[in-house]
Amino acid sequence: MSKNNNQNKLDIKIITIGDSHVGKSSLIINYIDNKFSNVYMSTIGFDLKAKQINLKDGTEAKIMIYDTAGQERFKSLAANYIKKANGILLVYDIADKTTFGNIGMWMKSITQEKGDKLPIVLVGNKADLTEEREVSSEEGKKLAEENGFHFFETSCKNDINVNECFVDLAELVYEKSGKKIIQNSNKKLENASNKKKGCC
Ligand code: GDP
Ligand code: MG
Repeated sequence: MSKNNNQNKLDIKIITIGDSHVGKSSLIINYIDNKFSNVYMSTIGFDLKAKQINLKDGTEAKIMIYDTAGQERFKSLAANYIKKANGILLVYDIADKTTFGNIGMWMKSITQEKGDKLPIVLVGNKADLTEEREVSSEEGKKLAEENGFHFFETSCKNDINVNECFVDLAELVYEKSGKKIIQNSNKKLENASNKKKGCC
């Protein structure tokens, strides 16, 4: 069966998790729109951005990325936000040790909702801030290895590794799903929840 027909289209739902201000919204905007802004975007949140890509084996995938509305400021995220994810970018700021220290706390929130089966890529963002660096690349790599995560250091400002970390996560999700069609299972879930609403 050809991998490029419509039957093999995937929807891959990705969310970003991490402290406020680490650059989660910036990563999404850089990846989807190729833009960077110095403005803090906690209040200019968006719900969802999507992009069509071809995976390594030629399978078409629609990457759907959900942003937080800034609720991570209160160190908590709605369970639904985590529940809908097929894969997670877990983000800290290499120039802010506290955000690295909080990664464990975010990992717990993820495990609570999804167990430990979800593909996660650890991202040390703001790699352009070399003078202000507080977390070494080795520390990031070590934490990732200990938890079985892939690891990237990124810069939204200088457009380094942003594309790579999203694509890597999408490939991981695809592999972990046994290269199955994720779209169909998502559809089933949507149908089930629509039925629950008791619509005519
Ligand atoms: P969020 O709260 O995690 O969504 O963070 P934002 O995306 O709103 O970014 C917070 C601040 O960090 C903004 O002022 C961004 O311009 C800045 N920022 C984001 N990514 C980078 C980066 O890679 N390098 C630098 N120097 N600043 C960044
Ligand atoms: Mg944000």
